[in-house]
Amino acid sequence: MSTKNGSELTVHLPDGGKKTLATGSTAADLAKAISQSLHKKAVGALINEELRDLYAPLAEGNKVKILTADDPESLELLRHSAAHVMAEAVQALFPKAKVAIGPTIEDGFYYDFEIPDHALSPEDLSKIEEEMKRISGSGHKIIRYQIPDVDKKIAEFKSLGEKFKAELLEEHKNDSPTLYLMEDKSGKVVWNDLCRGPHLPSTNLIKYFKLLKVSGAYWRGDEKKEQLQRIYATAFWSQQALDDYLRRLEEAEKRDHRRLSKQLDLFSVHEEVGPGLIMWHPNLATVRRVIEDFWRAEHIRRGYQFVYTPHLASEELYRISGHLETYSENMYSPMDIDGQAYRAKPMNCPGHIMIYKSRLHSYRDLPIRFAELGTVYRYERSGVLHGMLRVRGFTQDDSHIFCTPEQLEGEIMGVLDLVDNMMRTFGYTYKAYLATRPEKYLGTDEEWEMATSALENALKKRNLDYAIDEGGGVFYAPKIDVKLFDAIGREWQGPTVQVDLNLPSRFDVSYIGEDGNRHKAVMVHRAVLGSMERFCGGLIEHYAGAFPLWLAPTQVVALPIADRHYQAAKELSDALTEVGVRVQIDHRSETINYRIREAQVQQVPYMIVIGDKEVASKQLSVRHRREGDLGLMSTDQLLKKMQSEISQRSM
Ligand SMILES: [Zn+2]
Ligand SMILES: [Zn+2]
Repeated sequence: MSTKNGSELTVHLPDGGKKTLATGSTAADLAKAISQSLHKKAVGALINEELRDLYAPLAEGNKVKILTADDPESLELLRHSAAHVMAEAVQALFPKAKVAIGPTIEDGFYYDFEIPDHALSPEDLSKIEEEMKRISGSGHKIIRYQIPDVDKKIAEFKSLGEKFKAELLEEHKNDSPTLYLMEDKSGKVVWNDLCRGPHLPSTNLIKYFKLLKVSGAYWRGDEKKEQLQRIYATAFWSQQALDDYLRRLEEAEKRDHRRLSKQLDLFSVHEEVGPGLIMWHPNLATVRRVIEDFWRAEHIRRGYQFVYTPHLASEELYRISGHLETYSENMYSPMDIDGQAYRAKPMNCPGHIMIYKSRLHSYRDLPIRFAELGTVYRYERSGVLHGMLRVRGFTQDDSHIFCTPEQLEGEIMGVLDLVDNMMRTFGYTYKAYLATRPEKYLGTDEEWEMATSALENALKKRNLDYAIDEGGGVFYAPKIDVKLFDAIGREWQGPTVQVDLNLPSRFDVSYIGEDGNRHKAVMVHRAVLGSMERFCGGLIEHYAGAFPLWLAPTQVVALPIADRHYQAAKELSDALTEVGVRVQIDHRSETINYRIREAQVQQVPYMIVIGDKEVASKQLSVRHRREGDLGLMSTDQLLKKMQSEISQRSM
């Protein structure tokens, strides 16, 4: 035991070392005690894993990591502080503005304001940025201040018209609420904001920021309450990082599937149909059909059997499955059919179970792998609907595998192999997460152990890079979640594999074992593409609308230069159509250059120009959307080239 008097405290450092400091020392004092250079760079601290102010007091035994701009955790401090500077700037420019809340979000932050009689414009945003630069440049100290008399402060906020702050403070009355004070060089408090913190120690660390856009919002997200204006913004530690981010943002906007849909005529959503319900236009329907054909062929190779189940089912089915009890907020209201309540199906599993249960199975029948492109309907709040990515009706590439416990690991290996094959075909890289037992769960510990180790063994045997998501499983199943990374490095929700420890009991899903007794079957849910809507929406962005040849809605466009070349174009088109190539003839009376440009905009992979020279020589003048002019080739040569590209599904 160390001998220590009451005037000292010892803290633990990330490298395993310890430091003893005077009682009352702060994280800043610790930084200074470690090194002068660390003290200079310090912007905050992690104390017992919790993000704190640099001037937070330390206690005996704390684990402390001093944060600098190099630590990713410090971005949160930067952005939270920048949000307050933005609010200060807004109130400086619009004295009637009242502040609501200003949290950090992924990649940035926002702040909500009520500004009477003024709608913020893009010009306002640059003015606010200028004012923020002035505030940050003047190097105000940001100081945590515990409110001594909360009731007095509430009254003060009310008298200033800061009704949102007053309401928040009222709510957090008993949480030792704090203000953060902006103090100028002379020690005068020039502004303050209600906040739990933590923040940077000074505004002059906030240098590289950008206000991005304004949108409407409601106080507390409630449309019956005050309408607010929300400014989205971001901040980084360097100009380089900010520029990189803005470039990524621009790239993502260019790839937005809703934007590309207009250019490429892919899908639509209509008020008359209802939000979140997707109309697939011929171009995207073609992409989907080709993907579905590929999907079916892969499943046939892997011993799956296809089934179809209806879009409606009696409520009784969802009572047995437990969905009525645990999932009803995602299900649509019942409809009455002959006095019986029916529901639109939210999941395909109960239907597949009914097919399994329609006859007795022996262990010799197993594994049984049912697959369906099954359309389901789930309620999503209108505010979260987003193009094809978040919708109310969608088709899952769903499958349920019924097997014995001994077969489970092999079945999961099979699924992982399919996942790998599919994701590589579409050009996604991915990472797997093993989500383990949550705090509340159904099923026995042995079942969880059996299922989780089967999932983990399969991951190990396939040599997959995976991370453990501790407690991230659903209450009835451990699972593997796969995250995809697209062409610009964004993360997408990908395939999932779950081992269900609930439904087999609820439905008495069983088989007759070698011993002649009934055994509970193991049931695996898995989706590889997820939903066709989200997957295709994601693909549009991943490819930036330029689908690879095997998926392209139109693979070839034939461009006769003049009317007299139409016949040759028609012959070419017939020959290509005959072997399954998707070809169009563009013989509008526009110039050839115009039509080539148009085909480029439509991202058609191959353009064939046919004029006198081509007709006379029986050669085709071939252009590729990216490689440009490929010179002359015969119809046969072109076909061979395309067919090899298509059959290899090359990118
Ligand atoms: Zn704050
Ligand atoms: Zn399922």
